[in-house]
Amino acid sequence: MRSSSDVRNAIKGIARVGIRIVVELIHRAIINLFDTIFGFLNWPEKKLRVKIFILMDSEGNRMPAPIDTDKSIDFANRTFKKKFNVKLMPHYTEEPFAELLQKIPPSEALYVNCNAGAIGDELKIAGNFFSSNLSGPLYPITAFVVIDINGNDGCCIGPVTDYLTLDPHGIIFFTTLAHEIGHSCGLWHIRKRSNLMWPHRDRGDDVKWWQKNLFRGSRHVTYW
Ligand SMILES: [Zn+2]
Repeated sequence: MRSSSDVRNAIKGIARVGIRIVVELIHRAIINLFDTIFGFLNWPEKKLRVKIFILMDSEGNRMPAPIDTDKSIDFANRTFKKKFNVKLMPHYTEEPFAELLQKIPPSEALYVNCNAGAIGDELKIAGNFFSSNLSGPLYPITAFVVIDINGNDGCCIGPVTDYLTLDPHGIIFFTTLAHEIGHSCGLWHIRKRSNLMWPHRDRGDDVKWWQKNLFRGSRHVTYW
């Protein structure tokens, strides 16, 4: 039987997703219209703010250290600048990209699902936890480093949330962060190994011209 907190989490999750769909459409159709149409020009330089929160386990122990995320950040930084003319920045300029989240998460937020399961998580305790610990609403992307993502290194259900998840493998395979940010910014999988959106770890950093339009038109990619 569903408890009242399950129902509350589901209602909050549906409201969050609904708001994000509306905000995303407004950005693509109005605020970022120039990029929706002419994004392939890669002009002018835009900005994308990211925060990585590494989660502790229930005993307060931690898996990767913030420094372990450096390669992932470096790859994302180089790829986004070179391919989209987008500068990757920490959410607050004076803060580091990656930090340990000083809060013990529920186990539902440490062992998460992907694809349809991630949509289910968004409507339950995990989604509620991630959304209450975002670096900020709507514009920055928050990456949570969890213990395990059922069968994946990283997961993002696209622009309907402001967060993505990575597990320790997703930190070691350093292209995963950039790939998941691609999903956050509206990109889907491409069946070409050299493309950033190739679903497997041996991906490259190529992008197609229309992926530039989609990426630069995202609400996460801003002029300010
Ligand atoms: Zn993917």
